[in-house]
Amino acid sequence: MRAIQVSQFGGPEVLRLVDLADPQPGPGQVVVQLHAIGVNPVDTYIRSGAYGDRPMPYTPGTDAAGEILRVGEDVKDWKVGDRCYLTGSQTGSYAQQALCLTSQIQRLPAKITYQQGAALYVPYSTAYRALFQRGQARPGQWLLIHGASGGVGVAATQWARAHGLRILGTAGTEEGLKAVLEQGAHHALNHRSENYRQQVAELTGGNGPDLIVEMLANVNLQHDLDMVAKYGTIVVIGNRGTLEVNPRGAMSKEADIRGMSLFNTPPAEMAQIQAAIVAGLEAGFLNPVVGREFPLEEAAAAHKAVLEPGAMGKIVLVPN
Ligand code: NAP
Repeated sequence: MRAIQVSQFGGPEVLRLVDLADPQPGPGQVVVQLHAIGVNPVDTYIRSGAYGDRPMPYTPGTDAAGEILRVGEDVKDWKVGDRCYLTGSQTGSYAQQALCLTSQIQRLPAKITYQQGAALYVPYSTAYRALFQRGQARPGQWLLIHGASGGVGVAATQWARAHGLRILGTAGTEEGLKAVLEQGAHHALNHRSENYRQQVAELTGGNGPDLIVEMLANVNLQHDLDMVAKYGTIVVIGNRGTLEVNPRGAMSKEADIRGMSLFNTPPAEMAQIQAAIVAGLEAGFLNPVVGREFPLEEAAAAHKAVLEPGAMGKIVLVPN
């Protein structure tokens, strides 16, 4: 099979297309023929070495969707041809095939395309954990999704709309702002404009959002403390640097700042998340948006694109 491999940390150019032996399933394992692969910002941080050492060479990626190609002899719940999305794998997802434990695959409803299935695991799980497990979101609350036009933001918008929150979503381009409204935000604001924080205050009647989910905390955390409602909560999802913050805002408003990292999710809570995703897809209120597709061999271009401004849904690789 064709796969992307990284043999040393570095820029996007270290993503190399190679031929590898087809993986074979052992007990409790399946091999999935991948039809689409999700590209997440974290894949670029790992590739650059920012997340620490790891055995080399490796194939990047956690997210993908496809159909079962081979099953281990004791696997009873899955058969060849079943559609699934991945929640990780043993071999990496930037490839034509992935070896997975049966605990690493979930059923993909027929109405969801493989490209959409590749947009599920990290974005939708992160959005759910941030909103409901860490953020304790409740119907009727004002929610600011600070970065609503990307993979996680679109997912958070769809989850929150179905749960009755009042949503302010930000983006940095006209196309992104349009997408934010289309996905269910009540108001779309441009985080590159001078006055959008003033607009947040006005739209929430001067109180500020009860909950903020933050995609770029190193830029926005002080602004979030200024904007958030009394007793409100800020969930830090994304961060790419450091900043100086005055903690007085947290003190005087009794506001909570909570971190979240998907990879810390305890197994029981992850099982809840995946059950909620499949139910939301079946019910129709979750509907992933794929913004751009690249062939597998252009993984380096996809890694550049995922860090550029102007997000619009999810970037996927297609491994023909
Ligand atoms: P993405 O698809 O690239 O989207 C990035 C989003 O951030 C876009 O909506 C972008 O809007 C927005 N953004 C850019 N500048 C901003 C600013 N100054 N203020 C507010 N928002 C801004 O990335 P993603 O997959 O949604 O992930 C978002 C962040 O969460 C990334 O940093 C990622 O690493 C992180 N993340 C963390 C976890 C975790 O477990 N903690 C899991 C998944 C993702 P424009 O492009 O329109 O400006």
